[in-house]
Amino acid sequence: MSTPLRRLYVSASAITANVKRLRELAPARDTMVVVKANGYGHGAEVAARAALAGGASWIGVADIDEALALRAVGIDAPILSWLHAADQDFVEAVARDITLGVSTIAQLNAVALVGRGTVHLKVDTGLGRNGVGRDNLDEFLTVAARLHDEGLLVINGLMSHVSGTSREADLGQAERFVHAHDLLVSLGVTPTHLHLAASAAALDHPSLRFTMVRFGIAAYGLAPTSDHTDLGLTPAMRFEASVINVKRLQPGDGVSYNFRWVASTETTVALVSAGYADGIPRAATGRASVEIRGTRYPVVGTIAMDQIVVNVGDDDVAEGDAVGIWGDRSAATPSVAEWAEWADTITYDIATGIGGRVARFERP
Ligand SMILES: *Cc1c(COP(=O)(O)O)cnc(C)c1O
Repeated sequence: MSTPLRRLYVSASAITANVKRLRELAPARDTMVVVKANGYGHGAEVAARAALAGGASWIGVADIDEALALRAVGIDAPILSWLHAADQDFVEAVARDITLGVSTIAQLNAVALVGRGTVHLKVDTGLGRNGVGRDNLDEFLTVAARLHDEGLLVINGLMSHVSGTSREADLGQAERFVHAHDLLVSLGVTPTHLHLAASAAALDHPSLRFTMVRFGIAAYGLAPTSDHTDLGLTPAMRFEASVINVKRLQPGDGVSYNFRWVASTETTVALVSAGYADGIPRAATGRASVEIRGTRYPVVGTIAMDQIVVNVGDDDVAEGDAVGIWGDRSAATPSVAEWAEWADTITYDIATGIGGRVARFERP
């Protein structure tokens, strides 16, 4: 059997250790680990199991389909799902005990129609996205409290999400969150779970942890921002491809589409078996490096759909050599954060961009 051209190695034990570490760094009564978007590219099931082993008490996902897929493989921990279709049917979610983040009166009514669903009320405290807006807050909470009293649904939590724009902005959102909580309590409902902070806010602002923090990116050992690089976390993902051709170039020889790189001296280039369809950001053209045999070499020429070309100078490389594109195993391998910088994006975008044809392996 031949070696897959592109390989993603995911370490469950790294995720477990990261979650343990995060619970020390940002303690709260409950820790949710967010495994949306296929566990930020790592695999949702692997990530959820590893997170629970590390002490997470909740799993978070965006869609109900993501939640149901976890139930289908036997994950029975509390799961929260907060992004729903305009015509979302909540029957199966309620039947499988998925807790629903709800943002509109229509959603409250749709859940009530199913009967006895558990909800976390989602308020927009200033992010300007999901969650009930300021103008509808009173009415939304009033309807929710009434449905709760009538036994048509169970309000189990109140949640919001911050922008991370500045300390002041995040603390201002927290104030609006507390206001919404007070309003709900005045309507006779005291939610068990109160949560506002994702990775960055949970790490930065102890006062924003309330009863639960929601860790996504940091659980995978990746930094939410460039201010969060020294937390003692282990990247859980390593992305590799292989050298599939080696050739000698003469001065003046061009490489890849539009000859954006031309050899200025005699040199050896290696053709590597992964490209932008596999998640290597094309925007990193001209800036990126990869690791071969423990040494870092520049990627030259335009990053293509299936292939990149690496300039190894006069060093020895051979067809079949493994190429560390990003990850953790060797110090020479670039980090996800470096790729994010080269592509002018964020770690999240790199991790979730892994393409469908990349072979996946679990490793310790
Ligand atoms: C994605 C998401 C998170 C996790 O965010 P990170 O920055 O990856 O920690 C938490 N809460 C909500 C509502 C989210 O959408």
